[in-house]
Amino acid sequence: MYQSKLFSKTRKEAPKDEVSKNAQLLIKGGFINKEMAGVYDYLPLGLIVLNKIKNIVREEMNTLGGEEITMTSLQRKELWEKTDRWDDKKVDIWFKSTLKSGAEVGLGWSHEEPITDMMKNFITSYRSLPIFVYQFQSKLRNELRAKSGIMRGREFLMKDMYSYSVDEKSHQEFYDRAIQSYLKIFDRVGLGRDTILTFASGGSFTKFSHEFQTILDTGEDVIYIDRDKNIAINKEILSDELIKQLGLNKNNLEEVKSVEVGNIFSFGDVKSKQLDLYYKDEQGKPKAVILGSYGIGITRLMGVIVEKFSDEVGIVWPTSISPFAVHLLNIGSSDEAKKITDKIYADLQKNNIEVLCDDRELRPGEKFADSDLIGIPLRVIISDKTITSGNYEIKERRKGKVSLLNISDLLDFIKKYK
Ligand code: ATP
Ligand code: MG
Repeated sequence: MYQSKLFSKTRKEAPKDEVSKNAQLLIKGGFINKEMAGVYDYLPLGLIVLNKIKNIVREEMNTLGGEEITMTSLQRKELWEKTDRWDDKKVDIWFKSTLKSGAEVGLGWSHEEPITDMMKNFITSYRSLPIFVYQFQSKLRNELRAKSGIMRGREFLMKDMYSYSVDEKSHQEFYDRAIQSYLKIFDRVGLGRDTILTFASGGSFTKFSHEFQTILDTGEDVIYIDRDKNIAINKEILSDELIKQLGLNKNNLEEVKSVEVGNIFSFGDVKSKQLDLYYKDEQGKPKAVILGSYGIGITRLMGVIVEKFSDEVGIVWPTSISPFAVHLLNIGSSDEAKKITDKIYADLQKNNIEVLCDDRELRPGEKFADSDLIGIPLRVIISDKTITSGNYEIKERRKGKVSLLNISDLLDFIKKYK
């Protein structure tokens, strides 16, 4: 992609009312645009990053056996009444609207109720099960405070998966595989070391749910980590009894601030009974389906990555989700420099290396400043000085290290870079 063709531009300043680090950096880098508190548009570069995160999640969901769907944002009131979650006193983040007929509808903040109701059309006997379905869908939540940029949106992208199983045993088997799959996802997007499996409130039969909490100073949660076992307990449910039950030692627990990037839940048969989702077992007897729910905040994840991987001058993307592998900067003014830049651009494309080329007529200082804000991990610089030698400057953004390489070594270096 040529930078001269991008309509979106970097900005020197983020809006004054934007207090979060992630949104400030993303706005300055030209990744997102702020509509209002907690509501952001994704611009070309931001959408590339979002799609890279989605693709990693999609690959892992498909490996788990998930089937992808998309459900609607408009939801039926009566479904949520059946589970006692329509009342604003029970769920305080609803956005609701009214049809011309006067009937009330909800704007989806979650999809457990509609999807479980929909499954009544498809689940008949034990032969229909198990079913694992997932979607990437915009959730709408009237959050009281939306001051954490894309980490807490009023409209945000979530991946939600639902599992329908015949009994607790097969449910648990899938649930355990989902935990491993989630850990792999967080590892692949660059957050592996800092994302901890955390015991939290909610969930049936086990009496807790599992959260995936990423250690972050600006996070809104507090967790207690056992570093050796790599598990944690959310402050909300910390008790001597639970510490003992999990075989942990109080003195080994370290208090840290964190942000919840994922949450998985067992509903047992509670929701199926409320919504009347039964299957016939081998004897033809009706049984309630066992339900699990598995969420990942896709846009929140992007915000967390930005907060964790940035320096004084801008974002530093992990390679797996960087919008491009290489930022190619021509800071020369000669025809020769342009020719070499075009050749390297073509060579990179031939090798399937994603490249953003700054072909604009700007001063080198401006190009460097923009490149700092955009945060692509590798930067190749073509200048009038270096072209005569046949060696080109490549800078690793993370370490700040600069090497001089000929074209073939340059390609090798980029292909191997992690
Ligand atoms: P929180 O406790 O942070 O409000 P939650 O418990 O309401 O989150 P879930 O309903 O479990 O969240 O949603 C699943 C995932 O969606 C969460 O783990 C989180 O990553 C993400 N998420 C939840 N609310 C938001 C939001 N307002 N903006 C962005 N992502 C969110
Ligand atoms: Mg939660």
